[in-house]
Amino acid sequence: MEKTMNLRPKVVKFLEGPKKLFINGQWVESASGKTFETRNPATGEVLAIVHEAEKEDVNRAVEAAREAFDNGPWAKLSASERSRLIYKFADLMEENLEELAQLETLDNGKPINESKFFDVPTAIEHFRYYAGWSTKIIGQTIPVNGNFFNYTRHEPVGVVGQIIPWNFPILMAAWKLGAALATGCTVVLKPAEQTPLTALYLAELFQEAGFPDGVVNIIPGFGKTAGEPLVKHEKVNKIAFTGSTQVGKQIMRQAADTVKRVTLELGGKSPNIILPDADLSKATPGALMGIMFNQGQVCTAGSRLFVQKKAFDNVVADLVSQSKAIKQGPGIDANTQMGPLISNVQQNRVMNYIEKGKEEGAEILTGGSSPFENGYFVEPTIFAGVEDEMTIAREEIFGPVLVAMPFDDLDEVIARANNTSYGLAAAVWTENVRNAHYVASKLQAGTVWVNCYNVVDAAAPFGGFKQSGSGREMGSYALDNYTEVKSVFVNM
Ligand code: NAD
Repeated sequence: MEKTMNLRPKVVKFLEGPKKLFINGQWVESASGKTFETRNPATGEVLAIVHEAEKEDVNRAVEAAREAFDNGPWAKLSASERSRLIYKFADLMEENLEELAQLETLDNGKPINESKFFDVPTAIEHFRYYAGWSTKIIGQTIPVNGNFFNYTRHEPVGVVGQIIPWNFPILMAAWKLGAALATGCTVVLKPAEQTPLTALYLAELFQEAGFPDGVVNIIPGFGKTAGEPLVKHEKVNKIAFTGSTQVGKQIMRQAADTVKRVTLELGGKSPNIILPDADLSKATPGALMGIMFNQGQVCTAGSRLFVQKKAFDNVVADLVSQSKAIKQGPGIDANTQMGPLISNVQQNRVMNYIEKGKEEGAEILTGGSSPFENGYFVEPTIFAGVEDEMTIAREEIFGPVLVAMPFDDLDEVIARANNTSYGLAAAVWTENVRNAHYVASKLQAGTVWVNCYNVVDAAAPFGGFKQSGSGREMGSYALDNYTEVKSVFVNM
C-alpha cells in the first residue's frame, strides 16, 4: 500500500492563498483584513492562511442570515425542496469524500483511514438522515375545552449561531447544520480556530448545491472575538455550542441578556466498567479504543477504566501490550493508527496532566512522553495506582491517557462512576443481561454503551447529564432544539 497519500489536486488548490469568509453566498475578506494560520499538527508547519472574523464580520453574517430567514427565497421553500437541497449537498460531499478526508487529516491530525471511513461518511449520513426529517416535522391537534379547535405548529427558531470544537471538525459541523437546515433555520457557523478548513470546503459545496445566499454562513475566528459577539447578538435566536464545560458556562451567561435558546454539548470524564462476567477478548480492546480513539481527544473518551479486582492485573497487562503496539505517525500516512494531538498547547496540557499524575503518586505503566521531535505527539499512556481524588481521575485530560482502577462490587463501582460533575457517556462490559440493564439504569450519563464503546448514530440522541451539557443532538430530539412550538386556537 502506498505509504503517504498524494494530495488531491483540489486539496492542493484549496490550500493556496488566504481563505476568505463565506457570508451571504460570497467569499469576502475579514473587515479588518486580519488573517490567522492553521497548522498541520503532524509537522507544526503552516497549512493555510485564513481570514479572521471579528465583531463586524459576525454582524455582516448575522444580517445575511436574518435577511435569508425573514425575506429570502429560503423562507418560501417547501419542506420537500429543502430536503432535496440537503440530499444534493450530501451527494456532493460524497463526490468530494477523498478531498474532505485529506483536508480533515491535514488540519486535525487524525489518521486518514478514520477521516475517510468514519468522520466524512458519518457526516454525510447525518445530512441524509436530516434531509429525510425536513418533510416530517409535524404538530398536533389537541382536544381543548369550549368551542375551540387547537393545533400546534413547529416553526424554525430563526437565525442560529453554531460554535464547534476542533476534535471532529466536519462531524461537528454536520451535527450542527443537519437539524438546523432540516427545520428551516439559517445559520452562522464558527468553526474552531485550529481547524477551519473542512467547514470552508463545505461552504463551497453549499454554494454548488444551490443553497440560497445567507442560509449558511461560515466565519472562522477565535472564541473571544468572534464566538462571543455571535452569542451576544440580538438578532441570533439560538446558540448551539460544542466545546469545553468552562466555555459552555460563559456562553450560558452571555446568552442570558437576550434570553436565547442555548444547547450545550460539553466535556466528560466517562467511566468504562468491566464486570467480572465480561468477555475480556472484547472488553480489553474495546476499553483501549474507548480511550485512544482520535488520540483521546473525544468528549466521550472512556478515560476512567474500572476493572473488577480479580481481572484487574490481566486486563491492565493486556492493555499495556496492545497500547505499545499502536503505530503513531502523521495522519496522512495510511499505516498510522494514532496521529498527533491538535496543537502544541494541547500537547503541553496533556503532558502537564501526566506530570501531575506522577506527582500525586500514580504509577505510569506505559507511555508518558512525546515520541517524536516534530509534531504534537503524545504516547498512549496508562496509569495504575490511581485514587479517585487524584487530578488525573477527576479532570478531563482530552488526550491518550487512561487511568485504570480496580473495584470490588457493583454498587461500589456505580457510586464511584457517578462521582463526577460530568455525565456525558459511560459503558459497561458484561455477559449478564440483568447486570447490563441494572448498570445502564443507574449510570448518570446521556449515553450508556453495553459491550461497545463510542457508537454514535444520526438516529440516536446524544448529549449530557449534569455539567456535560443541556439539550440533545441527533435523532428526532434535535428537531426540538431548532423549532419553536406555536399553539393556535380557532374559535369554531
Ligand atoms: P473550547 O471550549 O475551548 O472551544 C470550543 C469552541 O468555542 C471554539 O470554536 C472556540 O473558538 C469557541 N470559544 C472559545 N471561547 C469562547 C467564548 N468565550 N465565546 C464563544 N465561543 C468561544 O473547547 P475545545 O478546546 O475547542 O474543545 C475541547 C472541548 O470540547 C472538550 O472539553 C470536549 O469534551 C468538548 N467536546 C464536547 C463534545 C460533545 O458533544 N459533548 C464534542 C466534542 C468536544
